[in-house]
This record gives sequence, C-alpha cells and structure tokens, in this order.
Amino acid sequence: MANDTIEGPTLLLVEDDDATRQALRRDLVARGYRVDDVSDGSAALARWESRRPDAVLLDLGLPDMDGSALIRRFRREAATPILVLSARGAETTKVEALELGADDYVTKPFGMAELHARLRAVLRRAAGPAADAAGRVTAGSLVLDAVRHEVTVGGQRVDLTPREFEVLRVLLAHTGRLVTRGRLLRAVWGEAYSGEDHYVHVFVSQIRRKLAAADRGGSLRDLIVTEPGVGYRVREA
Ligand code: CA
Repeated sequence: MANDTIEGPTLLLVEDDDATRQALRRDLVARGYRVDDVSDGSAALARWESRRPDAVLLDLGLPDMDGSALIRRFRREAATPILVLSARGAETTKVEALELGADDYVTKPFGMAELHARLRAVLRRAAGPAADAAGRVTAGSLVLDAVRHEVTVGGQRVDLTPREFEVLRVLLAHTGRLVTRGRLLRAVWGEAYSGEDHYVHVFVSQIRRKLAAADRGGSLRDLIVTEPGVGYRVREA
C-alpha cells in the first residue's frame, strides 16, 4: 500500500438516536475513521456480516433488540473491540455488557475527547499486549517486570505478595481500559471465587498503599482509578 493512502480503522456505529449518531459520525470521520453507521440491531448484524469492522461503538437501547444480544453474537464470532455507549447510572447494564465481552463503555453524555481516548485504548489492546519485548510494563515511575516478577517505583523495589503482583499485572495489561471486579477475580483467583468481590477491594487497597509508600514524587497517586460499582482502571500516563 502506498504511503499516501491513509485508511483509518473501520468502525461499526450502532445508535438509534439520529442526532447522536450523526454528530458521532461527523466527528469520527473528521478524525480519520471510516464509519458504517446504522440505527437498529438487524442493520448492525447485516453490516457485521458484510464487512467486519475494526471496532464497534454500540448503544444498548435499540428499537428492535437489546444491544447485549449483539455483544453476545459479535463476541462468539470475533475478538473485535466493543465500546458501549451507555445511559447514565445504568451500572448493572454496564457490568452485564462488560461481562458479556464488551471492552469498555462511555456514559452519555460523553465528551468526544473521552470517547477517542477509550477508542484508542481498545484498538491498541486489539493490536497486542501492553508489555515491551522484555516483558516490562511501565506507568510513569512504576515498572512491572513480568519476567523477574518484580515491581519498582523510581528504581526502588516494592514488596508485593504474589497475589498483589498478579492483580497489578492484570490491571496494567489493560491500561486505559476498565477491568470489572469479576474479571479481575477470575483472572487472579479462578472461577471458584467469582462471587467474592471484596477480595479485590482489599488487594487493590494494599497495592495502592504500598505504591504510595514508595512513590516519593506522588506521581502514582491516581494510577488505579475506581469505577464505582463496576471495577478498576489504570489511567494512561
Ligand atoms: Ca438508544
């Protein structure tokens, strides 16, 4: 392909509110994305079949079907990133969407800057893991070395238990993206613990405390952000 041929990622935009859909489409096209926009679930399925998008932006409340049915279907067939456009306050719905395999959500009304940050993060995730070739993940002054199983802040070793290390590793592997408590539990403790949400809270608190003690400059203070009722997100540096 010639260098001057710029073809941005293709997005499937599913949103039944005309004004929202048109505004989103304009903005996304202006930023170099190719956008297939549809206003109901059956049109979304038809587009999905005719051209697999690089990512899906999905409103859950559609006139002809529940958006979660689309998540189930898309996820069964592909690992394509799915970003949910969610109504304010619908925590349960958001968690359900994430558990079904959506990658993240933005809550309406959202700013375009936020939408783009989330979209970039889910597209990056699709491109590969967060670690460098040596197995290191960096977030500001923090370095997690997955090969040496070691975390340092400003070059100083932080003593984490194996479980704390694992929780931090999973969160860092999803930097910029939301990790539900259920997903974190299953990743670290396995299926048997999927109802024990309070474990996660305790471990994240311990990790925050240990990082804060090592973090003289205070630059890691908001590294792990709590998404109330849903889970955690490591903010992007
Ligand atoms: Ca809707």
